Amino acid sequence: MRLTDIGQIKELFNKYGFSFTKSLGQNFLINPTVCPRIAEMGGVTREVGVLEIGTGIGVLTRELAERGKKVVALEIDRTLEPILNETLGEYDNVEVIFADVMETDLQQLIKEKFDGMDVVVCANLPYYITSPVIMKLLEERLPIKSVTVMVQLEAAERICAAMGSRNCSALTAAVSWYSKPKKLFNVKPGSFMPAPKVDSAVIRLDLYDKPPYDVEDEKLFFSVIRQSFSQRRKQLINPLSGFFNIDKSVLSSAMTENGIKPTARAEELTMEDFVKLYRIIEGLKK
Ligand code: SAM
Repeated sequence: MRLTDIGQIKELFNKYGFSFTKSLGQNFLINPTVCPRIAEMGGVTREVGVLEIGTGIGVLTRELAERGKKVVALEIDRTLEPILNETLGEYDNVEVIFADVMETDLQQLIKEKFDGMDVVVCANLPYYITSPVIMKLLEERLPIKSVTVMVQLEAAERICAAMGSRNCSALTAAVSWYSKPKKLFNVKPGSFMPAPKVDSAVIRLDLYDKPPYDVEDEKLFFSVIRQSFSQRRKQLINPLSGFFNIDKSVLSSAMTENGIKPTARAEELTMEDFVKLYRIIEGLKK
């Protein structure tokens, strides 16, 4: 079975009366080199359990099943079920669960399905929920080692930007808090059916056992980051003093004392600077 062969795919679609649902981000991989690379670079080996998000017709799922100990895959679209019964039928280490990833208790699922195994996430993500899915995987502190996913090239560049560089955003900071991100390779629109309008890239996030700095109130810390980037090309002192109700001259002096320029923009700050800024604001907010 070659699920990257357009003739075979069309045959399956006709046989089971399947048609694409654009709003679900259904762009299926047809480039035969991409799925094996995702599985290999995602660290999928015989000892590892794999969580996949969005099976489509199972092209990546099969590569994960070939290499991994066990694959549990979430798919929202039940109309894919008869196709998946055929394309994944030969594997006894694959379980497909028809559910919305955003509504799924992943902590519970990992505990139930991957007891005692190291777990990695591999997926060609539906682009309409790239950031929420990545943040869900990271914020819920799931017992996973890494996340290797296809995203839009622009998102990959934002996520993998260095802190303190022009491309960095609140998402960069959030992802860098929980993991070490790396862009692996680019993928052209012609590698998918139907072809998306944008270029894509595969990224890998290696999760830290614990965050790089001690922060007692993470909610406040992320609020400081979000506010700082809310007017990203402007001086961050303005949204911060407004949102946290701190006198601008007081905040300005505290920033200077801590080695942060009061005229700085969010994209110029390192993670260490954000931790300092959080501590300043924690002490000054009313
Ligand atoms: N892995 C397949 C491939 O590479 O060809 C399909 C990838 S396609 C980009 C994304 C898949 O995610 C689709 O099959 C879509 O139906 C599914 N999907 C979309 N939203 C989802 C959600 N909220 N939860 C789970 N799966 C979802």
